[in-house]
Amino acid sequence: MNPLIGAGRYAPSPSGDLHFGNLRTALLAWLCARSSGRAFYIRVEDIDSGRSSDTAAMRQLEDLQVLGLNWDGEVLYQHTRYAAYQQALDRLPTYECYCSRKDILAAASAPHAAPGAYPGTCRDLSDSQRNTRRAELYAQGRVPALRLRANVSQWSIYDVFAGEYTGVVDDMVLKRADWAYNLAVVVDDAFQGIDQVVRGDDLLASAPRQAYLAHLLGLPTPVFIHVPLVLNAAGKRLAKRDGAVTFRQLGAQTLERLGASIGIPGAANTAELLERFDLATVPRSPFIWDAA
Ligand code: GLU
Repeated sequence: MNPLIGAGRYAPSPSGDLHFGNLRTALLAWLCARSSGRAFYIRVEDIDSGRSSDTAAMRQLEDLQVLGLNWDGEVLYQHTRYAAYQQALDRLPTYECYCSRKDILAAASAPHAAPGAYPGTCRDLSDSQRNTRRAELYAQGRVPALRLRANVSQWSIYDVFAGEYTGVVDDMVLKRADWAYNLAVVVDDAFQGIDQVVRGDDLLASAPRQAYLAHLLGLPTPVFIHVPLVLNAAGKRLAKRDGAVTFRQLGAQTLERLGASIGIPGAANTAELLERFDLATVPRSPFIWDAA
């Protein structure tokens, strides 16, 4: 972790084998980091205890290695980072929230609610209301969520592809039964010295929330490069049910196809891809997966 050279990263969630879309994002992250002289780190985002598995993490790392996406240092596992998340949480203004997903959906359809934002139902409850709601939850075997008491409703970030981007910031969840993705990502990117975040553009809308958290914690904001996703023929995000889409299924043709999808046809290995890589020629629209 050398702060002088900066670093990029790939941060997969270990819920199954990486598919062509995941691998394309991983390759772009690796190329952006390596072509700019940065270190490249891997972080296993296994805080979602219900969906993560050690076996999946191991298989993902194996696939990245065999493809030639080499990384620096040790892999960072989020399940080893709970103390750091707690320290960050202790420095943020928070409140308990007792809402179920159903409560939030009902409140969020109210006429003045910002789309996709938590409507603030539990923000201003009195102590006695909190005691009652907390007891009700505990009686159901549930725990309250902790939400950020945000002072802004939007925040702007810079993205190399999207440009200046302003998005919603709300009283986001920081911890429920599990730690929340937004908090973990911010704490870990800073810890790993990440100054370049390359990931799928489904996460562009989360970047303002993360940049605001970083701001509150006094952490630097990385440069973002949100890259278009791989879609299936129906225009939906590629998924494993779309057929043979994982590295283990596609085998030796994978790297060649990945290269072609980012405008570098016929490359034999990652070293050649790196030599020929130019971010400016990476397509700005989704790549449509052709099962053929
Ligand atoms: N773990 C997330 C995913 O696999 C990516 C998070 C990120 O890159 O910030 O979708």
